[in-house]
Formats: sequence, structure tokens, C-alpha cells
Amino acid sequence: MNKRTKIICTVGPASASASILESMMRAGMDVARLNFSHATYADHKRLIRAIRTASKKAGVHVPLLGDLQGPKIRLGQLPEAGVELMNGSEIILTTATNRYTEGFIPVTYKNLHKDLKKGDRMLIDDGILELHVREINGKQIRALIVNGGTVTSHKGMNFPDSTLHVSAFTKKDREDTLFAIEQGVEWIALSFVTGPKEILLLKRLIKQHTPKGIAPARVIVKIEKHEAINRFDEILSVTDAVMIARGDLGVEINAQEVPLRQKEIIEKCRQAGKPVVVATQMLDSMIRNPRPTRAEVSDVANAVFDHTDAVMLSGESATGKFPLKAVKMMASIIKEAEASVFDDVPLFLDISQEPVTASSQSIKLLTIEGSIHGVLASHTLAPWSEMALKTRPEVPMFIAVSSEREARQLTIRWGVHPFVLKKQQEKTFVRLGLQKLKKDRMVKKNMRLAVILGKQHGEGFDLVTVA
Ligand code: PEP
Repeated sequence: MNKRTKIICTVGPASASASILESMMRAGMDVARLNFSHATYADHKRLIRAIRTASKKAGVHVPLLGDLQGPKIRLGQLPEAGVELMNGSEIILTTATNRYTEGFIPVTYKNLHKDLKKGDRMLIDDGILELHVREINGKQIRALIVNGGTVTSHKGMNFPDSTLHVSAFTKKDREDTLFAIEQGVEWIALSFVTGPKEILLLKRLIKQHTPKGIAPARVIVKIEKHEAINRFDEILSVTDAVMIARGDLGVEINAQEVPLRQKEIIEKCRQAGKPVVVATQMLDSMIRNPRPTRAEVSDVANAVFDHTDAVMLSGESATGKFPLKAVKMMASIIKEAEASVFDDVPLFLDISQEPVTASSQSIKLLTIEGSIHGVLASHTLAPWSEMALKTRPEVPMFIAVSSEREARQLTIRWGVHPFVLKKQQEKTFVRLGLQKLKKDRMVKKNMRLAVILGKQHGEGFDLVTVA
């Protein structure tokens, strides 16, 4: 209740027990991310059990976000000690085999030699090593080593100058999606998206395999390829949510462009009324140290000022030494940033736009005046109510849904506190909704709330005072 920006925590060995997860949830963790690039289904099942137990104990609706690996291109098997690449010399990459032989480095993508051209950059290990293509000869790619170092087995590769003909949805992703649906995962993240096609494919698969009467898992696309930046508007129109996956993105495009793309993407998502997440290296040094760097603190605060729906912890909470401290630190940075004037989204003056925006603006105006202290909405009766978040009204938004699963799905949204109200009818909604919120101690006497009930997009709202 005391912060609006949500925290996604990647769960892994460092946070695998229900007791640590419960502490993390009490400290501000809102969403649990499972990374399908690592661990077995048995491991994921254990984590899911622990997350569900912890959220019950903490009394919060924590959704699972299953992150698909996608077609990450990697080096193949190399000698145990790695291979030294010397600046200025040449090396041959091969797609013919997955085994190393002297002077030939294997890569996992079998058609790589077809998709590259002379001069293209190949980046290895988060861009630390850089090679330039000199010549392609059959399945061999001869490259100049521009930034060298030691490479070891299975390091990831990026190709900022090339368009690779790989689908963002692999056979493993399909299997992982079916596993995720079976396990009741609420959100599925699609990696290395390049256009809308793969998103629609995933949505179809989810729909086909979700039992009737259950809300299908929602899809969050990870923006981490230069192609996704170029086709962002098309992608946004079909996805349910967006993650700015700055790890890979910062290698695919110039690092100095990442903050600009972050601001643009957040703004577009907010205008479209769709959730957006800022991810990767937010408190990276807390993987090793109990305190973050000042630059990391600023990064989290700036994402809050940008009005992202959520910020994410990766290695910090999955494998780091201080998972609980990292959540506490993130929550405290969020609270401090939200309390400041830098956090205020200006009220748009042009109210001639579509009615949803007009309602959202009126609610925002009332919050600025201090005339309301919260918003009460029915997701069932007014499915558009999430759109009121467009102007980021700085009060809690209590949204009634009809199942625990829907409540968990909505948790990712900025400022939203979903609650379950089984029977939602227009006549009784305000009475029953307030009864439930009072019982759960979410509202207090004399609080004034804007109530969104109308079915039509952007239909007005009423005001009610808690008795
Ligand atoms: C990223 O690249 O920023 C990201 C979130 O993806 P992953 O953690 O799967 O590499």
C-alpha cells in the first residue's frame, strides 16, 4: 500500500525457500519471475510451491512470470580453460559443428553464416568481446578480433548489424509454455521478439491450452533486439505488456541510446494503458555487496520518475548474496522517489482526446486537488478501468476482480491493489466493495474515492465517501 511502483524479483537458488520469499514479499516484492533459461522443471515446481506458500502466508497476490529463453545464440563447447582471443588477430567461427577444434570456434545457430555479411559486428558475453566479419566461406566465418579476451563455453552472442532469420519462439519455448500453463503461471515473457507475429503465435498457443473459465496467461514481450525497437508500435498493439530488457538491448543498440529508448517505451506504454517493466542490472552490485552503488540507486529512482509500472531484480534476488536486502533497498528507493516532486506526471491540458483520457485526467485532477484518496473500480463491470492509470493518479487504485488469478495478474500494475469480489453487480458494487476493503483494512473512514463502474470506455465516475 505504501508504494506504487511494483517490484519483480527473479527467483533462484538464493531465494528458493518459502521463508525468505515471505520476507521478500513483506519487504515489497510483488511479482516472482522464473527464468526458463536455467533449472529443470522439477526445480521450477519446487520454486512455484514455495512462492505460492509464501504469498499465502504474507497475504499478498504474487503472480508468477515465466520468462522463456528464446533463441539466444551462443558459442558451442570450448575447452575447459576457454580460448584466448588476441586483439588484432583473426579467428574462424564455424556453424558446421558444436565441438571446438584448434582455431575454430563453434556457434549454436546453424544458419549464422547465411545471415551475416562482411563488416557485421559479432558481440560475445554481453558485448565484452567484439569481432568483425571479414569473410564468409561456406560454414566458416573469418573475423577480426577488435576487442579480445578469454571466451568460455556457451557464452551469449549479439549481432547489432544483422537481421537473423530465427523465430523468437523455439521448440523449448513451446514446451516451457505448456509447462507454465499447466503450473498456472499468470504472465509469460517472450524473449528476442522482432515483430508481432511471434506474439500472436504465443497468444494462440496459450488460448488453445488454457482450460475454459480460466483467465489465459498474459504475454509480456521483452524488448531486447534492434528490430523490436524499429517495430515497437506494431508490437505494442498486440502485446499485453512490455519489458525493457536492457541487458541484451544495451548490446544490440548503442548503450548510450538505452536511457532514451527506456523513456520513449515507458511513455508509449503509459499512453496505451499497458504495463511496462524496466529490467536488468538495477542493483547489480548487490549480487556481491550489501549496499548498491549511487549510480544504481539513481537508475532505480529515474525509472520511477519515468513512471514505469515495475522495476526488476535479476541476479540480485536469484543468485546474489543479499536477496532480501536488495528488495528492501529497492522498495526504499521507490518510496523516496515517489514522495518527491520529481515524481509528478503533469496533467495533460488537452482534454479533447478520447473519453478514456478525459476520465483519467479528471481523476488525476481530483488527486492533485486532494479531493480523492483512492479509486475503486470493477474490472468485471468496467473492463477499461485500468486505462485510468494513464495519467498515473497518485492515489491507490482498488480494482475488484472475480478470481484470485485475475487479482494476481493485475498486481504488476502501477498503484493497483486488486481484490476479489465474487458477485459484481452495478446496484450492490459500492456497498460490497467498500465492505470488503474496510474488512481488509485497505480504506479508512472519511476517505473519498472515485468509483469507476460504467461499461462504456471512458464513461464517467462517481464519488463516494467511506462511512
Ligand atoms: C535482459 O537481457 O535484460 C533480460 C531481462 O533477459 P535475460 O535476463 O533473460 O537475459
